[in-house]
Amino acid sequence: MTMDIQENTQEKPLDFIRQIIADDLRSGKHAAIVTRFPPEPNGFLHIGHAKSICLNFGIGLENNGPCHMRFDDTNPSKEESAYVESIMRDVRWLGFDWGKNLFYASDYFDQLYDYAVQLIRMGKAYVCDLTGEQIREYRGTLTEPGRESPYRNREVAENLDLFQRMRAGEFDEGSRVLRAKIDMASPNLNMRDPVIYRILKVAHHRTGDRWCIYPMYDYTHCISDAIEGITHSLCTLEFEDHRPLYDWVLDTLATPCHPRQIEFARLNLTYTVMSKRKILQLVNGGYVQGWDDPRMLTISGLRRRGYPPSAIRSFCAQIGIGKKESWIDMGVLEDAVRNDLNETAPRVMGVLDPIKVIIDNYPESRVEEMEAQNHPQRPEMGARMLPFSREIYIEGSDFMENPPKKYFRLGPDREVRLRYAYLIRFVSMVKDEKTGEIVEIHCTYDPATRGGTAPDGRKVKGTIHWVSANQALACPVRLYDRLFTVAHPDAEKDVDFKDYLNPDSMKILDNCMVEPALAGMEPGSQVQFERQGYFCLDLIDSKKGRPVCNRIVTLRDSWAKEQGR
Ligand code: ATP
Ligand code: MG
Repeated sequence: MTMDIQENTQEKPLDFIRQIIADDLRSGKHAAIVTRFPPEPNGFLHIGHAKSICLNFGIGLENNGPCHMRFDDTNPSKEESAYVESIMRDVRWLGFDWGKNLFYASDYFDQLYDYAVQLIRMGKAYVCDLTGEQIREYRGTLTEPGRESPYRNREVAENLDLFQRMRAGEFDEGSRVLRAKIDMASPNLNMRDPVIYRILKVAHHRTGDRWCIYPMYDYTHCISDAIEGITHSLCTLEFEDHRPLYDWVLDTLATPCHPRQIEFARLNLTYTVMSKRKILQLVNGGYVQGWDDPRMLTISGLRRRGYPPSAIRSFCAQIGIGKKESWIDMGVLEDAVRNDLNETAPRVMGVLDPIKVIIDNYPESRVEEMEAQNHPQRPEMGARMLPFSREIYIEGSDFMENPPKKYFRLGPDREVRLRYAYLIRFVSMVKDEKTGEIVEIHCTYDPATRGGTAPDGRKVKGTIHWVSANQALACPVRLYDRLFTVAHPDAEKDVDFKDYLNPDSMKILDNCMVEPALAGMEPGSQVQFERQGYFCLDLIDSKKGRPVCNRIVTLRDSWAKEQGR
């Protein structure tokens, strides 16, 4: 665990949850703090989960308390062990560690069953034979009270017998459920005799065929928290209406530990969709190339895109924890990765749209080594040698045949600085006879300007990047952009969010040339292509010596300008 995780979370005044925890420690209500992160293993984690992970594990770190990793695996029809693996990998990658505290709600199936029997014995739960549809009908609405089930007043003995036989597999799926006996007139719909067990004749990825009844989430979650001695059970606002049920179960069963549930606002981010169901549609419909597509805001997508985990942690620290629903602009996440990589990413030269420049007065066989800083503001990151020779590539957009006055790059009669090398002056250009396209540019260099300054003090405003043609590496580059063209793609009920997919969210450039230093970099490394943005060597497609790069983010926020932000 690195120090910056703690620094990030402690920079600001305490959020309301950390304030509660500090008060509980001060008052002696708790001597130690235990939190948990409880994903359901039915999909991949996304940036919203990162907020919850940073909160729960962050509080653990700050208080020297454990944060439990708990899989809420009560729905075997949607869950898989592949998801369990990917979730653990993602949490670790984000920089957090649960040590020995790995738990599964399915480990508590026996205890949960015993507690249910206890509720039946207390007259606080009953087996109900209404169908799912009837249960919904009987539940009533926000304005009308519910009606009591005709099975509500079954004798304890009959309930015990039926529940035991549900477990033994005697009844069909959907024919019976176990319900808590609370209050059909409660203004809170969750308290109107909620279902706590259902029959599901589905094998579970951990318990196999041992069970054919499974506990419901609301019933399971609070008991799991209590069994583990969680002190603060932090969840998103949609669970606020479930808190009375959480407390009812634990109070009724008089569990030795009664964790406090506290709700906070979930992360909502513009230009993306965050629900697992919608993410699944994008993956299954082939709109993206899998869960880890670099345009996706899944943790695996962000990793593949090249986001360092520290950037995600500082984003989460920056947005903070509040009680009111709000939207965070995608630009905030992009700025977080820019700020992070600005500090850490070595600078390199990469030419995305190369055009050849021939320096007529430079000796044909000579190759010079020019010293280039890996990070101009951080000398401790060292320097590297860049080969320079007679033929180089520059960026197509750094030359204009008829440049406007304020264009300070290369053009007829102009002189420009090659970063870390020489001043060069335009001589002539060669065009393709058929297409009229410029195929090469001829220049001369001034040998007295090595390193980029003219001894006579003449001013040259423009500095451009370049690579030496013979030594450069060909490097396919993918320019990624936001996946959606509008801030709220799923805001309208009758419009399919997929109608707002950005057709330009990925551009593949096949002709890019990069400096030879990239040959020695590991897949996953992040760099800044000077003047172009932050890129990473793709984790899967990049091989040592044959880089394939993903653009993580541009150097500046081009979306802000378009929207007049
Ligand atoms: P989704 O809504 O994407 O389907 P989920 O809430 O069903 O996700 P879970 O596996 O149940 O996914 O979530 C695990 C934890 O992560 C929960 O405590 C949940 O509150 C939290 N979480 C999920 N989405 C967000 C979000 N957008 N912001 C903050 N926390 C979130
Ligand atoms: Mg959920």
